[in-house]
Amino acid sequence: MEKLDLLNFFVFQDPSPILGRSLKIAVDVKNLVKVYPGNVVALRGLNFKVFEGEIYGLIGPNGAGKTTTLRIIATLLKPTSGDVRVFGISVLSDPIKIRRQIAYLPEDAGGYKRLTGREFIELMARIRFKESRDREEYVEEAMRIADLKEAIDRRIEGYSKGMKRRLLLATVLAAKPKLAILDEPTSGLDVLQSLKIREVIKNYNKTYGVTVLLSSHNMLEVEFLSHRVGMIFKGAMVAEGPPKELKELSGASNLEEVFRFFIGREVAV
Ligand code: ATP
Repeated sequence: MEKLDLLNFFVFQDPSPILGRSLKIAVDVKNLVKVYPGNVVALRGLNFKVFEGEIYGLIGPNGAGKTTTLRIIATLLKPTSGDVRVFGISVLSDPIKIRRQIAYLPEDAGGYKRLTGREFIELMARIRFKESRDREEYVEEAMRIADLKEAIDRRIEGYSKGMKRRLLLATVLAAKPKLAILDEPTSGLDVLQSLKIREVIKNYNKTYGVTVLLSSHNMLEVEFLSHRVGMIFKGAMVAEGPPKELKELSGASNLEEVFRFFIGREVAV
């Protein structure tokens, strides 16, 4: 059975016996703590694993610690204590080696407004690749994913939010990273634009086996996309598993209800 078939299989079955033995770990988050200046505790001993080939969705309310977690995994922020291993490499020991294997979509990325979409993609190609063949392949793929038609030759400053998000996502995915880290990929987008972005992410994961770790407030979105979800609240994991299992476990009909179920329990403890 192919790895991805296996993944799809256990999402609808009991994953626990299969997970540990058959799948490699892409991201291993261990006892992660982050305290910002002013004694703001963003993460208080967070633990979770992402397996190669899966889409893992982090969900939680504002301020739960999602962005902090993703930035630490992307080696853009140092933890106060604890560690993260990405494909076996510690963020503390070799962040450069990790950066070569990942691509990160920040929550709100602006910049380069005076470039056209095409110029932006070409710039990213030059930053990422040395060989002209690799660059050409990347540009072609990014243009296909962005699907901006004639707007690709207009300046980014005139793009809608959805167009900008698609352009940025295209530059992340076209690199075919081993791990794509996407912070709120559909943030600020309308229903149609969000649907389009979700399709792109899902297809990409299926076609190339790219491991995806994403965050969202939108529980329906995460439910649609993710093989497994991790629910974060106040810097700690309150529940984790395939959406179907979590719903069954808590007798809920959607992830919003699951979240309320677990938060209620947390508060009660
Ligand atoms: P949102 O969904 O609103 O983006 P989030 O789950 O991504 O929230 P984080 O942005 O990781 O949460 O923030 C976690 C906590 O850390 C919050 O209390 C936030 O105010 C705090 N925080 C984040 N960045 C900083 C910073 N640079 N300095 C101080 N506190 C910070």
